[in-house]
Amino acid sequence: MTDDLRPATIAVTTGRPAHEPDQPLNQPIVMASTYVAGGDLEYGRYGNPTWTAFEDTLGALEGGRALAFSSGMAATTTVLDLVGHDALVIAPAHSYTGTLLELADLESRGRLRTKLVDITDTEAVVGAVEDAALVWFESPTNPALEIADVEAISAAAHEAGAYVVVDNTFATPINQRPLTLGADIVVHSATKYLAGHSDALLGAAVTANDELYDVLKGRRDLLGAVPGTLEAWLAARGIRTLHLRVERAQQNAAELVRRLTGHPAVSEVRYPGFGGIVSVVLASGAMAADLFTHQTRLWVHATSLGGVESTLERRRRWKAEPATIPDGLVRLSVGIEDVEDLWADLERALDNLVE
Ligand SMILES: *Cc1c(COP(=O)(O)O)cnc(C)c1O
Repeated sequence: MTDDLRPATIAVTTGRPAHEPDQPLNQPIVMASTYVAGGDLEYGRYGNPTWTAFEDTLGALEGGRALAFSSGMAATTTVLDLVGHDALVIAPAHSYTGTLLELADLESRGRLRTKLVDITDTEAVVGAVEDAALVWFESPTNPALEIADVEAISAAAHEAGAYVVVDNTFATPINQRPLTLGADIVVHSATKYLAGHSDALLGAAVTANDELYDVLKGRRDLLGAVPGTLEAWLAARGIRTLHLRVERAQQNAAELVRRLTGHPAVSEVRYPGFGGIVSVVLASGAMAADLFTHQTRLWVHATSLGGVESTLERRRRWKAEPATIPDGLVRLSVGIEDVEDLWADLERALDNLVE
């Protein structure tokens, strides 16, 4: 039914109760730890109708079946558990710090082996996948905003018998549908664009492979990495406007990139050409970057991204951020405010640095 619908229509119409008299238009918040026996649900850790509303919408947007998790990291950890003992996982040297920390922790305990690669160097990645069990990457990467060739990497990984997992948090299904490019699993921090209002932690894994779906569902049941009902409801509500929020954020981002480029306080602007995340490198380094992040009024100094409000932070303030990320790099999560107000605030804070 959703096969021939476009993303904006899927976002608004999928995951709703049936159009029958007295049915609500929205899936209610079902607070339940257990259900009357004999049906499909049985117990609160195995399923919940409010999760399903969010899962049906995200699954249709990505072109697979979705499973909601308690956070993006809960989804990540569960998916990484697919590989056997001592198996090799390929991942980009620049990734979400939580993912890098998780891989390092698993490796230090002998659970798996990790090889970090430059994900933009397709030839090198293809060369590295030969012995891999799983290839994991983001595109664009956080916070370097590098782009991977999802199709070429997926083809090489499958030839080697490896699974391909794409963390699609930055691109969202509005800009990129990795399952249609060959990926086996898409992972999301739904905390970011999907929920979109900086008020809920939630994660998701999506796959079009029924066998993988059953394995992941089984692991989620056993690990108990399940979402809260209210969080799932907030994400189901937030995802209704995903397309509008992403469109406005990237319209604003493109305009800000144009104005940031050439400002004397900025030595480099990174933008992959789509999405709402922009990274700028400040010409005079970490101290200037810290000053900058504390001098904006509308832009909130905060970690995380993908909310309706604009936020910014110097990424290297986190110890786990790789040293190959410039010390003075500030990641901007562009919101949906008026771009003139956003620019005036940025420009004033940047001008202060060069006076
Ligand atoms: C935030 C983030 C995660 C982790 O998600 P949580 O919901 O915070 O657990 C994973 N990947 C990317 C790209 C992220 O930005």
